[in-house]
Amino acid sequence: MTPITLESLTYPFFNTSAPRILFTMPYFRLLTLASFACFSVFPSLAAAATTPPATLRKPCAPGITLALNSASAAQGSLLLVKVQSKNPLPDMKSEWDGKAIPLWHEGNDAITLHGLLGIDLEQHPAPYEWKLTWAGPNGASQSCGVSVVVRAGKFATERLKVESQFVQPNPEQEKRAAEDQKKMRAIYDTLTPQQLWSGKFRLPLKGVTTGGNFGRRRVLNGQPRSPHAGVDFPAMAGTPVYASQSGNVVLAEELYYAGNTVVIDHGYGIYTMYAHLSAIDAHVGDKVEAGTEIGKVGATGRVTGPHLHWGVTVQHARVNGLNIVQLEP
Ligand SMILES: [Zn+2]
Repeated sequence: MTPITLESLTYPFFNTSAPRILFTMPYFRLLTLASFACFSVFPSLAAAATTPPATLRKPCAPGITLALNSASAAQGSLLLVKVQSKNPLPDMKSEWDGKAIPLWHEGNDAITLHGLLGIDLEQHPAPYEWKLTWAGPNGASQSCGVSVVVRAGKFATERLKVESQFVQPNPEQEKRAAEDQKKMRAIYDTLTPQQLWSGKFRLPLKGVTTGGNFGRRRVLNGQPRSPHAGVDFPAMAGTPVYASQSGNVVLAEELYYAGNTVVIDHGYGIYTMYAHLSAIDAHVGDKVEAGTEIGKVGATGRVTGPHLHWGVTVQHARVNGLNIVQLEP
């Protein structure tokens, strides 16, 4: 178990002034089903760190303090949350925008609870309350909350024109994509109440530190489609792909749009996905370590060239993986 330092999380500013590109590929309609479908286009996203965000602290009850590393967060980013006390904490439930957010102790530290709040890339910009509830000394329910403002992310928009016959997949393709989507949903609906990772999350390729396309909005023939939910890394076919952190392999197979894909469960609703692989070197049920080779870069599924699509999901929220690697152990 490795503690995550609340104050150490910094938010890079991602330059999203990417060029507009005209595609004539036949599957844009299906991006609503498969937001990981992507292209080998890599705008340079230099991660220039800006001023670290302020930490928000709120006394909740005698001796109990709630803390977040910022009072606001952009779409597709992450917030670290902490509950601190002088005495061992009671069981606490945490909620954000109507969904339960798991909290965990690290090691034998009973006086601190940690959590990771993922802000989905399409979360509507607005204030949301992060709320804690627990049973007080007399058994009465107690609660405490803080308002966290979700800001609009800065994502490039691609306005694409495609021929109409390329917008409609055939029924067989549509069926397969729907089955894939159902499978992925079942995976993300499963929350393993255990910290399977240890330490910092890593980028999945060696020597490749810049990736792009996260959050790109796509407008196809004037109609908005699902944004691109992962980071695309440029790499030659055959380049080894490594697990970002330790965890359990929960998917290792070919998907219609994502091609050969591996998904790793890191616990507490945190998943990483590696798509378009030329080869899969992992099996469902494998326990992998950070840095374990799980496959090779390829161009399987619907792509225009070899690259790695890397997705990070935190309790269903699709977040920019370049943010999670900023977490200092
Ligand atoms: Zn992609």
